[in-house]
Amino acid sequence: MTESITAENRGESVRLSDVSRRFGNLLAVDNVSLDIPAGSFFSLLGPSGCGKSTTLRIISGFEFPDGGQVFIGDEDVTRLDARRRPTVMVFQNYALFPHMSVKENVEYGLKVRKMKARDRENRVKESLDRVDMGEFLNTPVTSLSGGQQQRIALARAVAIEPDVILFDEPLSNLDVALRQQTRIELKALQRRLGLTSVYVTHDQEEALALSDQIAVMRNGKIIQVGPPKQLYNEPESAFVASFLGGSNILTNPKDAMLFTGLTINESQAVAIRSEHVQVVESGGVEGEVLSRQFLGMITEIELMVQGTKLVVKTTNNVPDTSHLSVKIVASQIVKNDL
Ligand code: ATP
Repeated sequence: MTESITAENRGESVRLSDVSRRFGNLLAVDNVSLDIPAGSFFSLLGPSGCGKSTTLRIISGFEFPDGGQVFIGDEDVTRLDARRRPTVMVFQNYALFPHMSVKENVEYGLKVRKMKARDRENRVKESLDRVDMGEFLNTPVTSLSGGQQQRIALARAVAIEPDVILFDEPLSNLDVALRQQTRIELKALQRRLGLTSVYVTHDQEEALALSDQIAVMRNGKIIQVGPPKQLYNEPESAFVASFLGGSNILTNPKDAMLFTGLTINESQAVAIRSEHVQVVESGGVEGEVLSRQFLGMITEIELMVQGTKLVVKTTNNVPDTSHLSVKIVASQIVKNDL
């Protein structure tokens, strides 16, 4: 019987327990604990240098933690090196072998695992079909476009039937249109294969579009974990409210009271989504327009309202005047961690 990729391949859960990693004086990963359910799409999102890639490398076994434990399924893999883990990494630069054909690239990991030639051939074909690249079997990889090379990298990863697939900013080399298309395909493929996927990105839209759950990281720490809608609608802190989707953050209690009627203390702030500041014809507070950017579907306007700068995102046709009236239609109290 030939070996094939099966629908039952549901992946394994990943658990990090109090994981830390230090580089000299820098605590790149600071006591991180995470539960990633089997078969789910989980993103690590945060600004550059917050420790996302190091966390991913610790899951892959390319990096070892100074403290804490890593589990894949029930197995403690903390000290296992990458080759012994049921994980595979898809990199930003694809990491394909330029002197090899598509077939040889996808086959490589199977040869290393000593799979029989006939089984290898079937598996390569299946894997390429899954990413709609079956017709490119004998093409040199260097003659493919960036998007096609990314698909080959994906085929090579799924060919070895990993339990967990790890993505390190895999779409960042593609142009915007191709990135969005590849994102849709990636999500569909992940759903079909049911592989546990851990995805590193600093692109919040990508994380929102792809993930079952997102962990927002900052300075090596996990700040908040949750499904995309929950993180967007119920950010717990000013950092999450502004990093994910962009918000106006009011830290001064007087401003908070003036604009929203909410009472905050020193450790709190009020977050107001830019789309929740609405331009009105009457009944609002007036502000001076500082800047205006037409972005197609929306216009982004910076307003100075009674000494406070507010960013407004609106889909309305706003009059081209130097002053506008605005009304705040929703706001929430968050932790002030800025
Ligand atoms: P980016 O999005 O820019 O890749 P990141 O969130 O993935 O950032 P990491 O690559 O995990 O962040 O890096 C976290 C911190 O650890 C950074 O300050 C980085 O400079 C530092 N760092 C990472 N790897 C090493 C290393 N091998 N030696 C020294 N410092 C490192």
